[in-house]
Amino acid sequence: MGDLAAAKSHGKGEPTVVPGVSPAAKQMGRAAAANLLRRIKGEPTRPFRYVDYGNLATVGRKAAIVDLAVPGLGAVRFSGLAAWLFWLFAHIYFLIGFRNRLIVMVDWAWAYFTYERSARVVAEPVSNARESRS
Ligand SMILES: Cc1cc2nc3c(=O)[nH]c(=O)nc-3n(C[C@H](O)[C@H](O)[C@H](O)COP(=O)(O)OP(=O)(O)OC[C@H]3O[C@@H](n4cnc5c(N)ncnc54)[C@H](O)[C@@H]3O)c2cc1C
Repeated sequence: MGDLAAAKSHGKGEPTVVPGVSPAAKQMGRAAAANLLRRIKGEPTRPFRYVDYGNLATVGRKAAIVDLAVPGLGAVRFSGLAAWLFWLFAHIYFLIGFRNRLIVMVDWAWAYFTYERSARVVAEPVSNARESRS
């Protein structure tokens, strides 16, 4: 489940690759738990189907992009400070439990004011990586 799984979504048409994002991990977790309960009861399992509600991404200290598919409204897209605040509150809101929300808020506030990063992706061109190893 989640980032460790090379899962495919079985909707209409050909199965599609599930993106490595939090909503996908949460949906996979629920689907796996429901299938485990079905197996215990001797019922057939159901294929996983990822429901994509849209994307939120930060692109700076006070900037983000929001790209949502809202039922009845269609595509809702905006960016900038409003999108960043939306991103912030949406992520806190969807965390499970008050303790998790508090810990993440304190963690993010610390990272914001101290400029410390909790996760980094260090990418290096293939040729440079080979040279530095030899
Ligand atoms: C920098 C960055 C930014 C991202 N931004 C977004 C975003 O804006 N929106 C979005 O939807 N997704 C984002 N993602 C992706 C998102 O974080 C992941 O898709 C999601 O967290 C996957 O959830 P998971 O439960 O599979 O794994 P994780 O969230 O990685 O959880 C795995 C947990 O298992 C624990 N663990 C590992 N090994 C062991 C062990 N041996 N024993 C016990 N525990 C263990 C880890 O400590 C961790 O707590 C981002 C990822 C990164 C790195």
